[in-house]
Amino acid sequence: MITLKEILGQEQGVSQIGRALAGETLPNAYLFAGPAGVGKKTTAIALAAALNCDEEQKKGCGHCSSCHKIATLQHPDLHVVAPEGKVYKLQQIKDFQRFLKYAPLEGRRHLVILEEGEQLGHHVSNALLKMMEEPSSPTLFILLATQPEELLPTILSRCQIVHFKPLSEEIIKTILLRNGGEKEQVGIASKLGLGSVERALKYLDPLFLDLRKSLYMALHAIEQHEAWQPLACLTLAEQLEKEKKSELLFDLFELWYRDLFFLSLKSEQYELLNFDFQTSLEAISPRYHPKKAAERLLFLSKMRNYFDKISLNHRLAWEYLLLQLRPQNTALEYPLEDPAALLSPMQNRI
Ligand SMILES: [Zn+2]
Repeated sequence: MITLKEILGQEQGVSQIGRALAGETLPNAYLFAGPAGVGKKTTAIALAAALNCDEEQKKGCGHCSSCHKIATLQHPDLHVVAPEGKVYKLQQIKDFQRFLKYAPLEGRRHLVILEEGEQLGHHVSNALLKMMEEPSSPTLFILLATQPEELLPTILSRCQIVHFKPLSEEIIKTILLRNGGEKEQVGIASKLGLGSVERALKYLDPLFLDLRKSLYMALHAIEQHEAWQPLACLTLAEQLEKEKKSELLFDLFELWYRDLFFLSLKSEQYELLNFDFQTSLEAISPRYHPKKAAERLLFLSKMRNYFDKISLNHRLAWEYLLLQLRPQNTALEYPLEDPAALLSPMQNRI
């Protein structure tokens, strides 16, 4: 397991927690706030281990039975809860509430880690608030949130906030290498991770890297013709639909247009994310005005929402998306008014 002192890139937050541990001034509730994939949950687990470690020094040795049980989420006094579906359900709170009525079974205190705290909702937040105000046994609540402003003010006021920041590329590289990544792939994934180790780890997958290579080569080939050929777009759409990885594909499209956007701004300080496709991107970028690249990024984010929320006919949707993205298309049509055109044939019939 990773102990508190092994957490990388969050020195300020970790030392804030360390001071509270050493001085025995821990609050009843923490809010770990910051972007996704920067170590909030790892830190929460490390803190849980430190609090219940058998070694008595309150540091979380990482190898005693208690630390091991916490690292593998098997400790009876640790409750790690995430929303069921999109939001939390009241029953989830009730499920761990019955444990908190009694003294901890093995450790010194109960630990409740609530992931995606912004999804607690009004009712669940109120039930949680009651527990925080009237703890019946020693309990530390740790809420994790990427958008803390969406928490109820009453919950926020009960929590001490620890801020987590995006990680530097160097730190992400160190973590990926520690996880056994190959140097060349680690170089690409840590740059594309944009400060998030979680995202970078996802990008380290050889399947993702292959997908990236084939998509960018296809985009490069299409861009070589002054005007994108509709037939080439339709062929690529067919391949994209077969991949069934729309989330990763949207990431790739966005990273590509993000580079084109910054290249079109001609900012000298900007470092390309897709540095291994520098030649392609530099050849293509003169066709993009910053506004045009920005419009494509906005369009992609709207299309991503459609893919998430409604059941689309993905083949049609990819065809539509690629035809819209053609550089000569100056007036993007956002499908906001009539998404029904892209619904699956089954839904159209209904
Ligand atoms: Zn230990």
